[in-house]
Amino acid sequence: MTHVPTVTLNNGIEMPQLGFGVFQVPDEETTAAVGTALEAGYRSIDTAAAYGNEGGVGKALAASGLPREELFVTTKLWNADQGYDATLRAFDASLGKLGLDHVDLYLIHWPAPARDLYLDSWRAIERLVAEGRVRTAGVSNFQPAHLARLLDSSDLVPAVNQIELHPALQQRELRDLHARHSIVTEAWSPLAQGAVLEEPALREIAGRHGRSTAQVVLRWHLQLGNVVIPKSVTPARIRENIDVFGFELSAEEMAAITALDRGLRTGPDPDTLN
Ligand code: NDP
Repeated sequence: MTHVPTVTLNNGIEMPQLGFGVFQVPDEETTAAVGTALEAGYRSIDTAAAYGNEGGVGKALAASGLPREELFVTTKLWNADQGYDATLRAFDASLGKLGLDHVDLYLIHWPAPARDLYLDSWRAIERLVAEGRVRTAGVSNFQPAHLARLLDSSDLVPAVNQIELHPALQQRELRDLHARHSIVTEAWSPLAQGAVLEEPALREIAGRHGRSTAQVVLRWHLQLGNVVIPKSVTPARIRENIDVFGFELSAEEMAAITALDRGLRTGPDPDTLN
């Protein structure tokens, strides 16, 4: 079973650098997929209220028999639940579905700027941190302007910004900003939902290492220092995606992948999703 290295967050907590995402996995399939992931060695699971599968995740965590302190569970506050009181209620509902008494990371899923409630939501999350029900507070899909406003309004610096990031969308500006504020960059859709896996440059590198293009992409993220949360419901791919700690990309190979950036968003634009 693979042991995944951790990154140290700005509050001292260790987060596995590679975890398992469950976006678009139906609740009834989630328990089996997360069960396979836990058997393969994943200990970090990324869900969200909006995915409708916190219950399936919770069942898999309980069935695994793994000690709670070995698990790192992330869930997210949905846009419709932003605001101080609504955040507290939504968090209670998420915890209930997960069957847990705390989560390791709670993220504001989108800034939803037209709602203009993310500062209120953040104050609620500050309270949840103080109560010990959220170990680490973070955000997702925050653009530089949203982060700047949050940093101005609160002493609690988000430990993580989870953003769309893959070889076709490399997010240089945000990664530099994160580095300046000790915010960990977590890559969602790290494989661009499969859209980059046929790239000739990746095929060539993969052939050289006797690896898949997915493994090469995940390795590129890890060497950049990103946290990654690939999703798969296919057991062989779940195992393949965690088997990325036994090889290393050269500086030339890293540069060849850096050259693949073409500003391709596979998901919504955070400035307009509300
Ligand atoms: P990924 O980039 O992880 O790609 C998943 C897709 O790639 C699936 O179709 C999967 O197929 C396929 N795949 C996985 N592994 C392999 C492999 N080794 N070889 C070939 N194909 C493979 O996309 P996601 O959008 O799911 O992103 C990952 C996670 O990020 C999500 O599950 C979620 O947790 C998070 N996320 C967060 C968002 C946010 O707004 N904060 C938005 C989107 C995602 P199959 O399952 O059929 O095997």
